[in-house]
Order: sequence, then structure tokens, then C-alpha cells
Amino acid sequence: MPTKVDLTRLVWEEKEHEARGGRNGGLLKSQGNAFRQGIQADVPQVLCGGVTIPSSNREGFVEQIARWIAILSLGLLPVLADAQSKAAAEERTARYLQSVRSQPLLALAFLREMPKGGDLHNHLSGSIYAESWIDFAVDDGLCVDRTTAVLIAPPCDASCDKFSSKPAVSCAYGDHILYNTMIDGWSMRNWIPGEESGHDHFFATFDKFGLASHNHTADMIGEAVRQAAADHLQFLELMHTADGAGAAQLGAKIGWDDELPKLREKLLAGGLKDVVAATSKMLTADEGKMRAGLKCGTPEAEPGCEVTVRYLYQVLRGLAPEQVFAQILLGFELASADPRFVGLNLVMPEDWYVPMHDFRLHMKMLNYLHEIYPRVHISLHAGELAMGLVPPDGLTFHIRESVERGHAERIGHGVDVMNERDPLGLLREMADRNVLVEICLTSNDVILGVNGDGHPLPVYMKYGVPVALATDDEGVSRSDMTHEYLRAVGDFGLITYQDLKRMARNSLEHSFLPGASLWSDAKSLRVVGACAGLKPSTMCQKFLDGSERATVEWKLEGEFGKFEKRY
Ligand SMILES: [Zn+2]
Repeated sequence: MPTKVDLTRLVWEEKEHEARGGRNGGLLKSQGNAFRQGIQADVPQVLCGGVTIPSSNREGFVEQIARWIAILSLGLLPVLADAQSKAAAEERTARYLQSVRSQPLLALAFLREMPKGGDLHNHLSGSIYAESWIDFAVDDGLCVDRTTAVLIAPPCDASCDKFSSKPAVSCAYGDHILYNTMIDGWSMRNWIPGEESGHDHFFATFDKFGLASHNHTADMIGEAVRQAAADHLQFLELMHTADGAGAAQLGAKIGWDDELPKLREKLLAGGLKDVVAATSKMLTADEGKMRAGLKCGTPEAEPGCEVTVRYLYQVLRGLAPEQVFAQILLGFELASADPRFVGLNLVMPEDWYVPMHDFRLHMKMLNYLHEIYPRVHISLHAGELAMGLVPPDGLTFHIRESVERGHAERIGHGVDVMNERDPLGLLREMADRNVLVEICLTSNDVILGVNGDGHPLPVYMKYGVPVALATDDEGVSRSDMTHEYLRAVGDFGLITYQDLKRMARNSLEHSFLPGASLWSDAKSLRVVGACAGLKPSTMCQKFLDGSERATVEWKLEGEFGKFEKRY
């Protein structure tokens, strides 16, 4: 039988070689492979760009091969030219950023438009700006304590008088002092270092505006995707305690048992599956409302409709052990039952009493449940600590144990990594295990006071640990993803456009979206064979249809292509 040479494969081999730094050598290698295929087929009959080369006798064989090579070379030229032009565009784009990096306003304009992939560390309730919380509270008829800015259930004081202690939140629309008190109390706006620590002010905000979150999940997701679209993000993994405390309440009712398998059985028998079903149902309703609000699926659809959203079930680790276990179990069960939940994360301040005291117990819970649900993804806050915040020993093991015992595939923050035991060994281990660190620069600055040279971002990069920028709580910290990029450029002189691009790609590669990666080798950025050709092929489409992760990665590459053409 005659052998057909797969042109896509040849193109692919050439790209593969290029990725390793070769050019002509790669061309020859591809031709060599094609040649070998021809020899193996004995009678070569090649289809190439619609041209058929018939088989010939032995005398004409060498000439045929030469002709064949020439034709193949012509076929590969566009691929080479395309790769070269893309590399040149990237280089020009990088030079532009370099030229404006000391002019923050020009850098800002550049970075706003830059495609940024995904935000892997985004707490839904922390992503909301205080102005929106005020609107939600007004919708719900809530009142506010004028002194502390804490929301309170109605009834409110009858008048908006300036001396009323419990006015309706709606009074703030006509009372700028009350309005400003709420915004400053519910965010880091106008926070004055020294009067109250950034850490305490930051975490106290959640208790102040919390009451407004109960009926507004759809509005909150809507705000998060609108902001993501404005920042040229295409993917969000939102941390969301989506069960409305159902699991924690069940955990409290069932109580504690030192034998975790027994405790799991009691929870499953006691109604945890009902919490799973109710949570899924609630999310379906909230997402439907959100999409209607954004007019998704209509000609007036907002850009936020294009943002892909998945959820990490957010476990409140400051609660009692039986409640934390019930929540962690819910996270594993939810992610096994509902594909919108791609994993779980443990949240709340790491330095508080319970998270510190029960840290190893929480890792034990994760270790046990990970064995039962090995496919459920885990990302953990770890090392969101700094010298002085906790006793020195508290800084020495959280990141390593989160990786080794907690099975974290990603670490949130990792700020205190150099205080861990054998920090360089840990960095090598994280690089080997391909554990990504979600870097939250603004959050680390305002909560921990860690920034610039004190931040470990460049150390992670030096040791080959994958990193991606994330917003953490953009509403509370009054930031957005564009400003996280701006901060990275401003604070770390060595970070280049290519580094930022790598972080954006990492944010999708290390997302918990299912499916194969677009990259056959993410480190050297080799595209899988099916999608390595110049134009989208049916083979590539089939591959993308089978992988949500590769689909967003493919889209990001397209966005980079468009963005870099401008420079
Ligand atoms: Zn966080």
C-alpha cells in the first residue's frame, strides 16, 4: 500500500524543533522523517498541498526525492514565516512595555488591554466593591450601625436624621458622610496604616457587609465577570461558599468523631447529599439570573457573558473541626457531582487561632478524603503569614504540609516560603511537582505589609515554580487584575512582557478546567500536534471540543496574536 505523508505531522515536527531553538535543522529533520517514511513504504506516493508525486523507477528516485523535498520545503515556508512574524510581534510588544515601564500611566493602558488568561484566586464575596454592597443592602431594606458600619437586619430607625444610630442604608444615598463611612469601612479605601492594622481592617470588612451577600449571589457573579471582561480575563475560578452554611450546620448537628471514615458515613447518611443537591440547584438559579442580568445569549449581551466561570467550594477553616470536616466533605462531593465545581479551597485568616491550632488536623482531613476522591482538585491558602504575625514556628511548615499532606496542586499566597524549613528544597519540590503559586501582590501588601524586595515572587520564578497573578479580594482591596499586573511591572524590574505572558498562560494551564492541555510540553510551549498547523483544522477542532482547558488556552493564544499585532 502506498504511504501518505501526514503534512500536519511534518509541520508539527518543524514547530517542535523550532521550540527547541532550531530552524533549518528542524526542516531537514522533518524532511528526513518524511524520507524514512517513504523508504519504509518502498513506493513513495506523497500527497502534499494537493500535488501528487507518482512513484518512479530506481534511476529517477533521487531526483524524485529532491523534487519532493523542494515541494515540502515550499509547504513549510509559510509555517516558518508565520512563526517568525509571531516572534517578531512578541519582541516588539515586549520592547514597548520595556519603554513605558517607568511611566505607569502608559504601562496601565498597555496592561489593561493585555490578555491575562484566568484569575485562579478570587473570593466571590471579596471581589465586590463597597458601592455595590450598598446597593444590595438597600434592595434588601437593611440598616447600618452608623458608628461601626456593620449591617443590621431591619427594622431601621424611622428617619435618616444624622443622629440616628441605626439608619436605613438607603439614607446613605443622601448622606455622603454615611456613604463614605460604609465604603471606607467595607474596603481598604482611605485606610490609614497605624490606626488599625491592614490585616485587621481587611478581614473585619467581611463581617460588616456580610448581611448584604445573602440574596445577591447572581449580582455578585455578574460583577465579577464584568470586571474580568474589563481586565481582558477570559476565565474565573471563583471561591464561593455556595451552600449557604448548610454543610457547617449539618456538621454541628452530627458532631465530631475521631474516626474520619465513621464521621464521613454519618454525614452522608445524615443529609450531606441533600446539601449537595440543594447547592447545585441554587447555583443553577443564580447563574440563570446572572446571565439574564447580563443579557447573555441576546444581541445586547455584555462582554462578561464570554467569561468562563468555574467554582471552588470555599471551606471556612476557622470553624469547629466537625464543621470544617463537613464542609471539606461537601467540597469533595460537590466537585464529584457538579462539573461547575472544579475543586475546593480552605479560607479565612491563616493566623487566627483555629486555623493555626487545627492546621495539621485539616491536613489530615484532606489527606484522608483525597484518597477517596483523588480526582477532585485542591488549592490551599498557605503561607499567607509574615514574621511577627505568628510565633516563628508557625511560619515553618504550612506550605510544605499543604503540598505533601493536603495534596494542594496550587498554593495561594506562599508569602512566607523563605521561613519554611529547607526553603530551597521546598522550592525545588514545588517546581518538580509543578505546584503553582497564586500570587496576590496587592493583598499581600495591604494585609501583611509584604511588597517589593520582601515579596518572594522573583524567588519562585528563579526556582522554576510556576506562578500566576491573582486578585484575591479586588473589591475589598480596591484593585483589579490590571493593577496586579501593573504592580508586578512596577515592583519587579526584572519581570518582562514574556514573564507576564507566561503567567497568563500558567493561569489557564494550572486551572482546574477538565481536559488535555493545549501544550504537549507547557514549559517549552509546544502545541499538541492536532493544533500545530497554520490554520485551524478539523483535527484541532475535534481536540478542542474534547477539552475545556485547551479551548480557553487556544482562545488566549488567539488574543495574544491580536494584541501583539498592534505593536
Ligand atoms: Zn485568598
